[in-house]
Amino acid sequence: MSFLIPCLNCGPRPVGEFRYGGEILKRPRPEASDRDWANYFYVRRNTAGPETEWWYHKFGCRQWLVVERDTVSNVVAETRWPGEAAQTPGKKAPSDKGPGN
Ligand SMILES: [Zn+2]
Repeated sequence: MSFLIPCLNCGPRPVGEFRYGGEILKRPRPEASDRDWANYFYVRRNTAGPETEWWYHKFGCRQWLVVERDTVSNVVAETRWPGEAAQTPGKKAPSDKGPGN
């Protein structure tokens, strides 16, 4: 698996410079059920296709990025800062305040 991720600070960089932070999930409300919280922490969709993910530029600018990546082809459609609205038509803005939030 080798592909480039276009970092917003550093430009296109090899994926080996980044740390994968997982898919972005909507965080449940504090009063959500135990089942909702368990799903949030332990259940992953493991999408075959377009997915919104966290990537950390560990050996670069050390910033977290939101990446729209096709998990089958590894084509990166979009990179943006956390909290920015998606530019890809049809995509909803994720609740991306930070990893684990
Ligand atoms: Zn960077």
